[in-house]
Amino acid sequence: MQKKKVYNLSVEYSDLLPALTIAQVQGVLTSNAELALRKDSTNDWRTCIEINVANLAVFTSGAARPDPAVNQADYELHFGQTHNLTFLNDTPGIRGVACGIPCSPPRFIVNWNTRRPDTPVHELGHCVGLGHAGHTVQQIMCEGATRNSNSNELKKDDVDNYDDL
Ligand SMILES: [Zn+2]
Repeated sequence: MQKKKVYNLSVEYSDLLPALTIAQVQGVLTSNAELALRKDSTNDWRTCIEINVANLAVFTSGAARPDPAVNQADYELHFGQTHNLTFLNDTPGIRGVACGIPCSPPRFIVNWNTRRPDTPVHELGHCVGLGHAGHTVQQIMCEGATRNSNSNELKKDDVDNYDDL
């Protein structure tokens, strides 16, 4: 039997966002884990993961922690912190970005306002080593600009990768 892979994420969010509760953020992450579990077609695979909010804190945006974050240098300032997931108010041109493919521990940014239903699990996918190549628009790891807003499928290789971290 496959054991569930558990990701306990330390989360910070920008002070430009409305106050967020652990329950609110946990709701987003749980629905993302459920997207990874869902099977919608015969060539769709599922991965048994759980994503938890280990802790949640607000940070003060500014030069050291930019919001908006507009380029890689800005992203790196957030990746350089100790927490895993950063929610920002404004990330022009992107809904999310990961520290690398792969990068460990996982560090990724999600725009709280413009995120798709699957943006957190998509960016976590990059952190565990998944790229975009070879994917179709229905799949979670498809490139962001063309991915369906309700994307919810995984390739078999993707499923294996979520367990590697
Ligand atoms: Zn991507």
